[in-house]
Amino acid sequence: MTRRITAGLVGALLLAAALAHAAEPKGTLSAPDALAKLAKGNAAFVATTLKHPDQTEARRTKVAAGQNPFAIILCCSDSRVPPEVIFDQGLGDLFVVRVAGNVADDLGIASVEYAAEHLGTHLVVVLGHSRCGAVTAAVKGDALPGHLLNLMEALEPAVAATKGHAGDPVANAVWSNVLQTAAQLRESKPILAELVEKGKLTVVGANYDLDTGAVEFYEQPAAAAEGAAIQ
Ligand SMILES: [Zn+2]
Repeated sequence: MTRRITAGLVGALLLAAALAHAAEPKGTLSAPDALAKLAKGNAAFVATTLKHPDQTEARRTKVAAGQNPFAIILCCSDSRVPPEVIFDQGLGDLFVVRVAGNVADDLGIASVEYAAEHLGTHLVVVLGHSRCGAVTAAVKGDALPGHLLNLMEALEPAVAATKGHAGDPVANAVWSNVLQTAAQLRESKPILAELVEKGKLTVVGANYDLDTGAVEFYEQPAAAAEGAAIQ
């Protein structure tokens, strides 16, 4: 079963972050710190109490000299899911990889590797969203022209893993795709798998609700990663 990260768990992560903070290099956030910052930003977005941080001229000048993003976001290209907006962040905060259906091909993985290995970012969020058009097309199995066929092939494992499951087939496939992509990144050799093994990189799955604006973070149980128990 997928398990939602509850407020209690977020609290535990915050405590762990506080304890681990002294060991973090200057300027970087630990994965729990980064996750808490994203959750806080999204809460502001949902409550329409946006702070619009890091969007000043001073911030632009500061990050022009170098970037130090605190989170990597792999998400869908959908125009309704812009990470900097839904997490209330600004310049230099998020290293974003966007592709329809939030799948990870070699170039996408290379982008994540760059941020994780070269920039030292400790958190990756694979972010799906409700009623994803790419996933919907994959579930329908329609014949599509051009390179869209490649995208449908990339989403096929998530569709196959959830076929016949109870509930909404698109929502099920969105989740399966998020969990499979997260697992793919964790196991990607040599760079990402090694960083995960050393405890320097954490990959979590998440889902954005188009209607409420809320992002829900999920843990990654092995059974769900195989599409065995998507709700
Ligand atoms: Zn989408």
